[in-house]
Parts: sequence; structure tokens; C-alpha cells
Amino acid sequence: MKRITLATANLDKVTEFRRILRGYTIELSPAPYSIKVLETGRDFIENVIIKAKAYYKEFNVPVLSDDSGLEVDAIGKAPGIFSARFSPDGSYRSNIDRLLNQIKNIPEEKLNARFVCVVCLIDESGIMHIAQDICEGYIIKEIRGDSGFGFDPIFYYPELGKTFGEISSEEKDKVSHRGKALRKLFSVLPLEG
Ligand code: IMP
Repeated sequence: MKRITLATANLDKVTEFRRILRGYTIELSPAPYSIKVLETGRDFIENVIIKAKAYYKEFNVPVLSDDSGLEVDAIGKAPGIFSARFSPDGSYRSNIDRLLNQIKNIPEEKLNARFVCVVCLIDESGIMHIAQDICEGYIIKEIRGDSGFGFDPIFYYPELGKTFGEISSEEKDKVSHRGKALRKLFSVLPLEG
């Protein structure tokens, strides 16, 4: 069993990481305390590396970090790397409200969007492994469903005909950016249970 420390303070993400990686011989623990990391990167990959390196330097154990966000093409791929701090208070609800306000004059058929997730593992030898994946869908202008977190209730996934707020966590994990990126990362490491 490999022990890996998660470089995130977002409990919703910790829950998803644990669920997605259930079948692997990995024990995921939250960091003993969270550290302040300035995400100054220009893209998801730079930010995920900044986070992983900061936690690895602080705790000196294998760490797993992720950087993720939503890109809406019609508004220049915003909020992108600023997804978590899109509105002044950064709450999920006000981030959604700000996005809905910015797209109010754009027809729904032009609101294609994607979730992006980059994951980074720094292993016990200090070697860095990175994987990225996406999940394509549309933004809808009403809030539907109350499962998931973040932008899930306005992210419509055409293959299932529902928003991510209306599907079960198991359904989300199969197709989500985070599910795919994590499985990609761990498929090349000898950890499957
Ligand atoms: P991070 O902590 O900098 O990676 O910010 C990620 C932000 O992107 C979250 O706070 C959400 O607003 C959004 N996000 C990322 N993944 C998801 C998801 O699976 N569902 C909904 N929103 C997400």
C-alpha cells in the first residue's frame, strides 16, 4: 500500500480523489495542515506543478496535486485557471451567478465548455508524473440538480442528457476530467489493486 498526501484543502476534491482511486493500492491522506501556495502559473500545468512542489518541499513525502477548472469558449475560455476565485467571495454559488451573468446574451447552443484537470504526483524518489484530461459539455442557463460541487449544476453533459448536478457520483467519475486524468496517471504506475 502506497501512502500519498493530497496537496489540496478542497474537501470536495479529496472526496472525489478517494472515490476514483478506490481500486488502487493507495492510501490517500489529507496534508497534516494546508500551506499557502500562490498559484502564479499561466496555465493548469504550471499551477499543478507549483502546488505539488510546495507540498513535497514542506512534507517530504509522496504528494498528489490537481489543478482544474472550467473553460467556456464563447467568453475566451474563462474562467479557466481562475475558476475557484471567479467571484469576489469565491463561493460556488456566486461563481455560478457571475458566469451566468457573463453569458446571459449568448445563445445556449454556443455555450460549449469543458472541464480540464491536470494531476501531478511527486513520488518517493522525487520524480514527477503528470496527466491531463478533459470533459466536454455545455453550460445551461439554469441550475439543475444538487449533487457534485462547483459548476456541476450548470454543466450539461450531452451523452447522459443531464447536468453533472443531476447524475450520481459514480456516473460522474466514469466520464469526468478528474476521473479520466487520475486513471491515466495511475495506469502507468504499478498500483492497481
Ligand atoms: P482549483 O482548486 O484551483 O483546482 O479550482 C478548481 C475550481 O474549478 C473549483 O473550485 C470549481 O469551481 C471548478 N471545478 C473543477 N472541477 C470541477 C468539477 O468537477 N465540478 C465542478 N466544478 C469544478
